[in-house]
Amino acid sequence: MDSTLTPPQLIVQLCRHFYDQGWVSGTGGGISIRTGGRVYMAPSGVQKERIREEDLYVMDEAGAILDAPSGADSRPSACSPLFFNAFRLRDAGAVIHSHSMYAMLATLLHGDAFECTEIEMIKGISGHGYHDRLVVPIIENTAHECDLADSMAEAIKAHPRSHAVLVRRHGVYIWGKDWVQAKTHAECYHYLFEAAVRMRALGLEAAGKPAVGLVQGGKR
Ligand code: ZN
Repeated sequence: MDSTLTPPQLIVQLCRHFYDQGWVSGTGGGISIRTGGRVYMAPSGVQKERIREEDLYVMDEAGAILDAPSGADSRPSACSPLFFNAFRLRDAGAVIHSHSMYAMLATLLHGDAFECTEIEMIKGISGHGYHDRLVVPIIENTAHECDLADSMAEAIKAHPRSHAVLVRRHGVYIWGKDWVQAKTHAECYHYLFEAAVRMRALGLEAAGKPAVGLVQGGKR
């Protein structure tokens, strides 16, 4: 992906790519990029894989709308206050909201936080090594997405090492210092969520120490 693209061009490309990953289907999910004192965001309730550059909202860092799609009756993403949590509390340069199946399923395996350890892809999350315990807070879902803002902010403050917050039976918010790191984080987190769900189905536990050959021969 060409890093000389403008933020709107990047969002259009990334939305198509994330749609193909199953992260933003059914008009859910989205991405926002913050750069040069501006925040770029897709409208709410639109098919993310069909977004055009002119469909995006441009906001300042206080959340005021500077440029809205002409003739549209759309609103900025319903995730807007949640994206701004990561911008303000973590100085994020991009945030991805995913409705991926495995992120949703991963929230059913744990209580207050998703945990895993000793899986190579943990190293893709900034500040983490292979032997570290990766912890992602899980907040409870609400009927309206904007009502998640306060509990998400609390979870971010309580888990300073995490670059993501899971939402029970819903999905996940993932951020990075820029869109490149946010995309890398999103790929690694999604891999780990899927690994944990698949491991549970095999009778294994991603949060526990690995045991060599645990499922071989069907014996533990
Ligand atoms: Zn959502």
